[in-house]
Amino acid sequence: MAISNTHELWQQAVAAIQSGKLVAFPTETVYGLGADALNPSAVAGIFALKERPSFDPLIVHIAHMEDLARLTLEPDPRVNLLAQKFWPGPLTLVLPKSSLVPDIVTSGLNTVGIRMPSHPVARELIERCGCPIAAPSANKFGRVSPTRAEHVRKKLAVEVVLDGLAPEVGIESTIVALHADGFEVLRHGVITLEDLKQVLPESKLSHKQSQVVAPGMLNSHYSPAKPLYLTQSPLPVGLDKSRGAVISCTGIDTEGYKVVCKNQTLGDLREYAVNIFAWLHQMEEADVDYMVAEAVTPLGIGAAIMDRLRKAAYRYSTGLKNI
Ligand code: AMP
Ligand code: MG
Repeated sequence: MAISNTHELWQQAVAAIQSGKLVAFPTETVYGLGADALNPSAVAGIFALKERPSFDPLIVHIAHMEDLARLTLEPDPRVNLLAQKFWPGPLTLVLPKSSLVPDIVTSGLNTVGIRMPSHPVARELIERCGCPIAAPSANKFGRVSPTRAEHVRKKLAVEVVLDGLAPEVGIESTIVALHADGFEVLRHGVITLEDLKQVLPESKLSHKQSQVVAPGMLNSHYSPAKPLYLTQSPLPVGLDKSRGAVISCTGIDTEGYKVVCKNQTLGDLREYAVNIFAWLHQMEEADVDYMVAEAVTPLGIGAAIMDRLRKAAYRYSTGLKNI
């Protein structure tokens, strides 16, 4: 089914961005909450609405390579190699920033995270507005990322929400910092370490040079409002399956659970990634008391999925109080 935004909605979206307001829009990863990246007070609105701590830098979304040149310092040949292979797509590059990028976007760092999305609505928004768009996920800080317009409408008071096809990726971008002596994966995504090594065979993997301690890298994030348990650890005793929801990737036993979400193609990690946040939203809304998600081997795309699931389940596996 084609999903289209009316001419009026597009006009509203462009006017909002150009007047320093916010717009939620689909990307191939998760829904973004966008503002003009070059307007510091517009960007401040993102932090305020999300209740996001100011030390958590935003990713800037661009539609053309010329924008990259304006936002960063000297050209780096590795950037072109990575961009040719993975852009537009779910890869964010952390690079030395130019003075055009306001400090609020990068939380005062001298680097900026940049991504060229492939989703047609995201690209059209950037092009129509004529500015790079800073955008984190369109949810309250620390909560489950949205992948559908309805997730945003239910949980965030943003006036303009653009519609669009469901994401092709479903989890946040892979983030890579390029250092003088190599590269560092700051966040796992569907573009895996193995994919990156094929493009940068000469570049060694450097460890923990980045100064940033962003919430996306902390133990608890993407947190659902109900207890979430992973199948890799024993479930708490005495759980009543008829009051639970379960997610299965490879075909684990789901007998007796009230709500069951499962992969159509057993074990397909891309399919698991595409659906994981939508399933967490669905289970959060369902009349159940807790949810269980299947843990997968943390290799390749499995590393990205387990990163999200471990963080989402963290407070429940450690007994931390829910926020
Ligand atoms: P998101 O949570 O998808 O909005 O992505 C934001 C994340 O990107 C932050 O939490 C950081 O982990 C990372 N990030 C963005 N900009 C930078 C930067 N300049 N240096 C290091 N990490 C960054
Ligand atoms: Mg987020």
